[in-house]
This record gives sequence, C-alpha cells and structure tokens, in this order.
Amino acid sequence: MDIFTKNYLDGFMAEVIGRNPGEPEFHQAVREVAESVAPYITSAPYLMDLKVLERIAEPERIIIFRVPWTDDRGTIQINRGFRVQCSSAIGPYKGGIRFHPSVNLSIMKFLAFEQTFKNALTTLPMGGAKGGSDFNPRGKSDGEVMRFCQSFMTEMYRHIGADTDVPAGDIGVGGREIGYLFGQYKRLKNEFNGTLTGKGIAWGGSLLRPEATGYGLCYFAEQMLATRGAGFQGSKVNISGSGNVAQYAAQKAMRLGAKVQTLSDSDGFVYDPDGLDEEKMAYVFQLKNMMRGRISEYAKKYPTAQYFPGQRPWCVPCDIAMPCATQNEVEAQDAENIVKGGAICMAEGANMPTTPDAIRIIQGAGLLYSPGKASNAGGVATSGLEMSQNSMRQHWTAEEVDSYLRRIMSDIHAACLKYGTQEDGTVNYVKGANLAGFIKVAGAIVDQGLV
Ligand code: NDP
Repeated sequence: MDIFTKNYLDGFMAEVIGRNPGEPEFHQAVREVAESVAPYITSAPYLMDLKVLERIAEPERIIIFRVPWTDDRGTIQINRGFRVQCSSAIGPYKGGIRFHPSVNLSIMKFLAFEQTFKNALTTLPMGGAKGGSDFNPRGKSDGEVMRFCQSFMTEMYRHIGADTDVPAGDIGVGGREIGYLFGQYKRLKNEFNGTLTGKGIAWGGSLLRPEATGYGLCYFAEQMLATRGAGFQGSKVNISGSGNVAQYAAQKAMRLGAKVQTLSDSDGFVYDPDGLDEEKMAYVFQLKNMMRGRISEYAKKYPTAQYFPGQRPWCVPCDIAMPCATQNEVEAQDAENIVKGGAICMAEGANMPTTPDAIRIIQGAGLLYSPGKASNAGGVATSGLEMSQNSMRQHWTAEEVDSYLRRIMSDIHAACLKYGTQEDGTVNYVKGANLAGFIKVAGAIVDQGLV
C-alpha cells in the first residue's frame, strides 16, 4: 500500500473510531472493508471527494427502543430493541434480526455494515440493515417468546415494510419467531405482504429458505476447492454451531461426500470420528429445532462421539473448517490449530467469525479462505427470492430455488475471482468480496447525489 493510501486509510479509521467510541466489532468490520477498498478509492479521487466510504460507515438511520413484556410468572421484563438501517443505495433495507444477550449497538452496526456489502454481492436489489434485541430466548416458554416478539414488533412495525425494510431471522430468530413477528405485523398494519422473510411455506415463505445459508456455503466452498482441484468427497469437515446455518451446512457437506466430524454450541463441542449420517442428522434437527436441547445430548445418544465442554472444535484436525456460530469464534490459537491440522480451506458460515489475527494466520499459511459476506450470502439471496415470489404472488419449486441459489453463489465466486485474483494467481476472497460489493454500492451512491 502506498503512503498516500495508507494516510487516507489511517485518517478514515481514526475518524470512524472517534465517532463511534466503544464499538470494537463495528471498527473491526469497517477496517476490514476499508483495507480492501482504500487503494481503489485513492485511485479514483472523486470517491474521496464525495466521501462515499465515509457515508456507508454512517448508518442512514438507527432506531433503539424499549421492549417491555411479561414473563410466565407475571414479572415485567425490559429489553432493548435495535434496527440499524445502514444503506438503501441499491434497494430496500434488508437484514436479519438477532435475539441474543450479547446484542448491543456495536454488534448491530457491524452486522448492518457487513450486510450492505453482502447484499450487493448477491446481484439482487437489496440494501443493508440488521436488528435485534438483548433478549435471551434460551429457556423461555413459547408464550414468553410470543409476548416478547409481539412487543418488539409493536415498535418496529412503523420502521419496516415490503418496499422499505424487510427483516429476516438470525441467531435466536428462526421459523417460530418469524411467525410471531409476522402475526403481530399483520395485525398492526392490516396488510398481508412480504415484509418479513423466512416465513412458513403455507403463508408466503420460500421453499429452501431454511436450508439456503448452509447449502449456499457448501456450494461456495465447492467452487473454492475446485480452484485447487479438490472437493468435499472424502474430506473431513469441522463445523461449529448447531443452529440453522450449521445444520444445513452439515447436511449438504455430508451429502457431497464429506465426513462431518464436529458440531458445537456455546457450552462445548461434539466430535464424532465416524461422521454424521442421515439418521444422526435427523436426530440433530429434532434435538435443536423441536426439543431445543444442547449439543452435548448428541454424545449421550451416540456413544462413539465425544463431548468436550467449554472447548471449540478447531483442535480436531480437518480438511475444511466451516465456522457457523458467531463473531470472533476463531481466534489466533484456533487458527494455528486449523493450520497444524492440515486444513486446505476455511469457508465462513457465520458473520465475521474469525479475528483479524486469525485471518492473517489462515491466509499466511496459504489456505483458501472466504469471508462470511461472500460464502454465507445464500441466505439473504434466498430471502430476496422469497421477496420476488411474494411480489409475483407465485411459489417456486425447490428445484427452481436451488438452481437460483447455485447460480448466485457461483456469480459471487466469480466476482471474488475478478476482483481478488492476485499477481501470483492466488485468490484473496476478502479483497475480492469487499471490492465487488463496494463498487456496486458506491456507484449507486454517486448516481443518487448527496442524500
Ligand atoms: P442459530 O441461533 O440458529 O444458531 C446459532 C448457533 O451458534 C447455536 O448453536 C449457538 O449456540 C451458537 N452460538 C451463538 N452464540 C455463540 C457464542 N457466543 N459462542 C459459541 N456459540 C455460539 O443462528 P444461525 O445459525 O442462524 O446463525 C449463525 C451465524 O450465521 C451467525 O453469525 C449469523 O449472523 C450467521 N448467518 C445466519 C444466516 C441465516 O440465514 N440464519 C444468514 C447469514 C449469516 P447456543 O445455542 O449455545 O447459543
């Protein structure tokens, strides 16, 4: 990086940190993008003059609100709700809702910022947003979750809409929560429309939306592996998390011929040396989605598997690592373990699961490495397909949706190659994804004037 670009980058980051104190995840996400796009910006000075990156790093709107609700004992509980509408440059705001006790403004802003670039990569017309609450759904009854969702939507409904902002699920928000949120939205607005995605199939949802993030991740990883003449067949795969993304990544990797060795949750991980099969997968779906149990139960049900409390799966040698739980879950020591274990590829299912130090180790060791904004974009892409079906009042078959999903993941991979192929022929997927997303969003911002 030349000195002029370095000065631009340092000045930009100093301003971002100064304007947004105490928001480390937001700084981390912005820095990653800024490092990739700074040389492009300084080579096209009108982007500097128009302060395009500075504008993207300042969300268009942030809504923070009180969410009061009553638990099953009749006690009043108060949570905090958020919606960060980062950019509407290329379409209505779009991004998930997360319910997790760790949710705060920094995490919401990093996710909305990431979402802006990810949505641009999908080739579909969607802006970037994210929302959520510090509500913890763990251990709550269906009635408590419903009352919370209704209270959350009672404020949020006035800020969203099918052509304004279209939320979806994320950590802690699956089909059950989307149902309660949609029910309350419909009641308040007296409108049945496509304002939320991830809906049930009988009431406007798209086939394959639940599968899309995990399946899309595997389609993307297949393309990465193919650049080195490799594939899933016969490979050992480690997955973290055991929620929506992890489950369907595991199912697809297994069906592509891989041995899926691990799953995890925030309490620990299970290692199954025999690998998952269809029967074990069916048990995981039931355990996590119906019984809402812990992944440790897997090792009780299948005694050849071992449970490691308080640990992450990255100490088990594998060929392909797919973090699918949460941000910063792969730290430097985990990355060392992944490299030592002989992995050739790390494809992110979660958003920003790898710390900057860990990314340097993974890339430095020459592994194929894709950032979540590229490899997990299949989820939001299929949400975009759900929006299209809702607008057209149509319902596509699973085969149709799957073929769109495959094509979109392949287009994202091609964009990464176009903008991320380096002089030595290797591909920097971080640079490729950031640059491809930025060029699209920046173009729209320039076209639309100073708004
Ligand atoms: P789920 O709530 O379905 O599952 C989350 C999983 O991650 C659970 O196993 C959970 O364990 C684990 N987890 C959550 N927080 C932590 C933590 N602090 N430490 C360790 N494990 C943790 O969420 P999703 O599968 O939907 O989302 C997973 C990731 O994928 C997130 O980063 C999300 O932003 C990203 N993503 C999701 C998309 C989607 O379509 N759902 C689309 C694109 C990205 P526990 O039960 O113990 O909390």
